[in-house]
Amino acid sequence: MAAAALLRTHHHHHPCKPKPRPPPRAPVLCRATTAAGAAAAAALRSLAPPTRPELLSVDLPRYDPARSRPVDLAVVGGGPAGLAVAQRVAEAGLSVCAIDPSPALVFPNNYGVWVDEFEAMGLTHCLDAVWPSASVFIDDGRAKSLDRPYARVARRKLKSAMMDRCVANGVVFHQAKVAKAVHNEASSLLICDDGVAVPATVVLDATGFSRCLVQYDKPYNPGYQVAYGILAEVDGHPFDIDKMLFMDWRDSHLPEGSEIRERNRRIPTFLYAMPFSPNRIFLEETSLVARPGLAMDDIQERMAARLRHLGIRVRSVEEDERCVIPMGGPLPVLPQRVVGIGGTAGMVHPSTGYMVARTLATAPIVAESIVRFLDTGNGGLAGDALAAEVWKELWPGNRRRQREFFCFGMDILLKLDLDGTRRFFDAFFDLEPRYWHGFLSSRLYLPELLLFGLSLFGNASNASRLEIMAKGTVPLAKMIGNLIQDRDR
Ligand SMILES: Cc1cc2nc3c(=O)[nH]c(=O)nc-3n(C[C@H](O)[C@H](O)[C@H](O)COP(=O)(O)OP(=O)(O)OC[C@H]3O[C@@H](n4cnc5c(N)ncnc54)[C@H](O)[C@@H]3O)c2cc1C
Repeated sequence: MAAAALLRTHHHHHPCKPKPRPPPRAPVLCRATTAAGAAAAAALRSLAPPTRPELLSVDLPRYDPARSRPVDLAVVGGGPAGLAVAQRVAEAGLSVCAIDPSPALVFPNNYGVWVDEFEAMGLTHCLDAVWPSASVFIDDGRAKSLDRPYARVARRKLKSAMMDRCVANGVVFHQAKVAKAVHNEASSLLICDDGVAVPATVVLDATGFSRCLVQYDKPYNPGYQVAYGILAEVDGHPFDIDKMLFMDWRDSHLPEGSEIRERNRRIPTFLYAMPFSPNRIFLEETSLVARPGLAMDDIQERMAARLRHLGIRVRSVEEDERCVIPMGGPLPVLPQRVVGIGGTAGMVHPSTGYMVARTLATAPIVAESIVRFLDTGNGGLAGDALAAEVWKELWPGNRRRQREFFCFGMDILLKLDLDGTRRFFDAFFDLEPRYWHGFLSSRLYLPELLLFGLSLFGNASNASRLEIMAKGTVPLAKMIGNLIQDRDR
């Protein structure tokens, strides 16, 4: 009834077009070309078992479709971003409905984070493997040891802890996909694909890269991080089990003069690995960022060649993951009626593809702001006015400028070939830890980021400086233009 009334009085609505996950369109140059290479990639793929969705066995309190009063907050999307906000808003005593097509599904991705990031949030109990340090291979002659503990997120534990907190605080769940949102002045109606309509005062889009409700008004032109990962049982591997392998840029597995080596020279990929034991390891061949994204079969071909060269014989694969992460690109329209967080709200680090730690750290800010501005006892806001305040706290000026700098970083990375990339990371990891830690963990803001840039430039070889000047001028001008435009808004 209330739902029908809302529908009749709606002001504007946003159909939630299922935007196809943009496939990494690859130019011909990026395709696996030799028959042997394609066969090796296919052999690697064939080891992976079919994906079995892993479910939590929780008894979820369900949303009652007969309810006519709007919930205070509807969270669309039950990934890390959505649940982190839902649990906190419910803790403050507000009514929250979380909508996801599969609320009990364990997060499917293998997340890696720096331990200090999780420590700062009191989340170390949600890590299931910790490496005291990490290593980077620049090339066959040069390696670096990074004195910064790294960890794998215990995704089942994290999901389960977040769901428990949600349930304990009264969050109700609705199992469906949201198809569209209809807004009137003070509340909204979410129309789900099962026909149920959920009225809500505030709507939070946390649908990750499907960007269900949040609107963009600029052409969406991200770079793509593309990676293929396997959690494997192996006969052995050459890596130290006390060190996480952050980046291995060696290319000695690709035959001199071969076409695949040339492809890797132009758009390089690196190996990322988490060695759990001498016989169990997570291996991921990764294209840091490319536009268009690299083709998955190209990545798999490079990975097969690398594993063979390293003498890693895969006995079995427990699970595999295909990673396609849009990076950079414009921010959503600021502000807008639907509030966002996580992948849908531009929160992926534009030059690294990381997001989990930053999103979990930002969730309390978004939750607190929703609670504060909804507070009716305090002359609470609603509709567009409330959303505008929340967006302001999610993307304040210093964060927008920081992101602009990280997009500048991405624009430079997009232009670097293998040698340029090696020179970049050689200088990057020689910086004072507070610079490279701060850059990777989004802790530096613009003035410091400019010092970071100068410091990186100072650390670079002469060849590298020339390259940075040649390739960085256009991105630098673009960044400055965007910063000025943003200031004038
Ligand atoms: C394979 C992979 C590996 C990654 N590894 C890392 C990493 O190691 N470290 C890191 O920091 N980041 C990593 N990322 C990047 C990023 O952190 C993750 O993508 C993260 O899961 C994004 O969180 P999210 O909550 O925004 O979205 P998601 O986790 O994608 O959750 C979105 C949820 O919304 C639901 N949904 C979608 N559409 C609708 C709809 N219409 N209605 C209702 N629900 C809907 C989905 O079913 C899903 O449950 C990785 C990404 C991928 C793809």
